[in-house]
Amino acid sequence: MRIERVETYPLLHRLKQPYGDANGYKKYRTCFLIRLITSSGVDGWGEVIDWLPTLAVGFQDRIIPFLLGKPATERLHLVNTIKKWHQRSAAGVSMALTEIVAKKAGLSICELWGGKLHDYIPVYASLQSYREEPDWQERSLVQVEQAVADGFARVKVKIGGKTIKEDQEHIRRLQALLQGQARLALDANQSYDAAAVFQWERLLQEWPNLLWLEEPMPMERVADYKLLRSRLPIPVAGGENLPDAAAFVPLLRQGAIDIIQPDPMHQDGMDGYRETLQLARHFGMRVSPHAFDGVLSRLYAIMAQACLPAWSKMAGEEIEPVEWDVMENPFTRLFPIAPVRGAVAVPTGPGLGMAPDLELLTAYRWDGSIYR
Ligand code: MG
Repeated sequence: MRIERVETYPLLHRLKQPYGDANGYKKYRTCFLIRLITSSGVDGWGEVIDWLPTLAVGFQDRIIPFLLGKPATERLHLVNTIKKWHQRSAAGVSMALTEIVAKKAGLSICELWGGKLHDYIPVYASLQSYREEPDWQERSLVQVEQAVADGFARVKVKIGGKTIKEDQEHIRRLQALLQGQARLALDANQSYDAAAVFQWERLLQEWPNLLWLEEPMPMERVADYKLLRSRLPIPVAGGENLPDAAAFVPLLRQGAIDIIQPDPMHQDGMDGYRETLQLARHFGMRVSPHAFDGVLSRLYAIMAQACLPAWSKMAGEEIEPVEWDVMENPFTRLFPIAPVRGAVAVPTGPGLGMAPDLELLTAYRWDGSIYR
């Protein structure tokens, strides 16, 4: 079962109204899907995140020539080799090769991984709260109201990009709107130091519906994270950009974090990603995957979560939620899967159990022009 063909699908969508977080405003959304097809006709899909011109050259000139003719069953070897050149490309190839093996065996990916332990995975509505317009707070409130009306019981919003006073005003208004109807996560995108975080301490104690505080500081400040975790009344979460299981070890060993947030596209392949999930369980910590940048990657995050033992026996808390992008992003519709009352049914068909919408792949195909 050798790899006979590799197709790439670079997609671009320019946003009419930029939105953002503490890192700045997004002017566009992209998606880069790959499809590997074997000599026996079995195919598998993967997803990679990076600037599209970089990926186009990398795949065309190096990764595709390397993959052609190689056995699709030698996933660990192939992924480890590509990882040395470009780790995020390796992660996408790993997804596609995983699906090929599952399909060849006539199994769903969860069955290949030992069978799902959960039929439904909760997801949370992930919002980019900032806009360039001065009425960004009002716009954020409308977005959150819409997410709750759509059935989401958990919502994540951004802090850390405005003054603490302005951000706190925003969250106060949100809480007044929510009236405890939904649980709320706050994501600072590594914007603060410990002293700035402690300016939130009193408010965090006031609100019983908070899920977690995400990445309040740069993730390498392990000692400061340990201090925060010992003082704050809510869980501290983070790690969406950490590249592998080993990178989480300092945080886990020192008890510096409550919830780790690995992203299947930012890790060293699906095998490595699942090691990270299991590592968290070995340390008795929670895992709530990051998946904002991807549509296929969030499907993989859901399937991996379905094969992970529960972290708690509490009703409604059996398994941690996966991030669900609800912003303007046409690529979130690429796969026919959507949450009902804030949870997604784990796919059951062979491989992924679904394929991307070919019309959308054509409609949004990147024309090769440079964008910034
Ligand atoms: Mg985040």
